[in-house]
Amino acid sequence: MSPLLSTIPVAKPVLGEEEAEAARRVILSGWVTQGPEVAAFEREFAAYVGAAHACAVSNCTTALHLALMAVGIGAGDEVITVSHSFIATANAIRYCNAVPVFVDIEADGYNIDPSLIEAAITSRTKAILCVHQLGMPCDLGPIVEIGKRHSIPVIEDAACATGSEILSDGRWEKIGKPHGDIACFSFHPRKVVTTGDGGMLTTANADYDRKFRLWRQHGMSVTDAVRHGSKQVIFEDYDELGYNYRMTDLQAAVGREQLRRLPELVAQRRLVAEQYCQRLSTIAGLSPPAEPDWARSNWQSFCVRLPDTADQRAVMQNLLDQGISTRRGVMNIHLEGAYSGESSHRIATSLMRSVSAQQQTIILPLYAQMTVSDVDRVVEALRAALAQATGEAVSPQRTMDVAVA
Ligand SMILES: *Cc1c(COP(=O)(O)O)cnc(C)c1O
Repeated sequence: MSPLLSTIPVAKPVLGEEEAEAARRVILSGWVTQGPEVAAFEREFAAYVGAAHACAVSNCTTALHLALMAVGIGAGDEVITVSHSFIATANAIRYCNAVPVFVDIEADGYNIDPSLIEAAITSRTKAILCVHQLGMPCDLGPIVEIGKRHSIPVIEDAACATGSEILSDGRWEKIGKPHGDIACFSFHPRKVVTTGDGGMLTTANADYDRKFRLWRQHGMSVTDAVRHGSKQVIFEDYDELGYNYRMTDLQAAVGREQLRRLPELVAQRRLVAEQYCQRLSTIAGLSPPAEPDWARSNWQSFCVRLPDTADQRAVMQNLLDQGISTRRGVMNIHLEGAYSGESSHRIATSLMRSVSAQQQTIILPLYAQMTVSDVDRVVEALRAALAQATGEAVSPQRTMDVAVA
């Protein structure tokens, strides 16, 4: 790598003076844990996605746990989901002593294949946990339909999908309205907006929302903020087992600023994705991600499938040598040691596509501040890496055409 070129990271959060000022405001207010900023962030997030209720929590993993609890998931129940996801998706099911049931992904994407769900349903199936992987909406229409037909609630793992949209009855709607029963979001720095760590649950069901609020704060009948503001002495009760899954006001204040930036961030990410798709179409054998006409991704991650002949690790190393960070495609949960136990999960279909996606895809750098020349650098480095990996000569003429396009 030329010493003049800095390494292009795979992701980069956009955090500035506004977030720093928000954190400062909270610190100097003297109220730093769950309080007025969390309440305001919830109102603003609910308005943004078009949900009746939004409840902030410590991260998306705890959000998933509360969502599963709210729909009544308990010991021995089965929850249909994908193995091709971050491990937290299935871990949350196991926190309920329930069994994740894995089905394969679609042939032309990285989301659950809805046509495989129905055959995986048994008398013990109590929920479908679908994932909007990499920010690309999964095919919610048929999934929600199957849920309705079998009276099984649908929970959306929308960890990556803040700002993504789906066409519903001819209207573009934000992921999180929600279209299933509950949607769960993450504000980890690897996602599109961040609060350091953080999560959000959205739902149209007031009873679920009341449960989230109770369970996130130790099952306490009165919140700190209410007790603090009361003119009367209040004693709280703890009638149910709860958790400490709170978001702090420090995080929420940062989150509110991030939410203000979100439309602009998503617009910029879509522009970068478009530039990628144009340029990558000139690399033979490479498959850029497909966006169905009923979906608009926030492009949380930009995942490409390498030609079958290319060695994933060699291509990634070659790119790193050229100053470009990449990541392997999404993992498969059933292949991890934590899932080696017989009772840890059930596999309901072939997982061939899931395994092949992990082995043959890589995540290219994509962040809002990326310039056209950054995109060009990544594409040309990938072209060169693939030419080496597959032993094909690149025509210099073709490379030049692309460089000026
Ligand atoms: C990041 C992620 C999670 C976990 O989110 P945290 O906020 O880190 O707990 C869950 N599911 C998916 C699909 C993710 O990408």
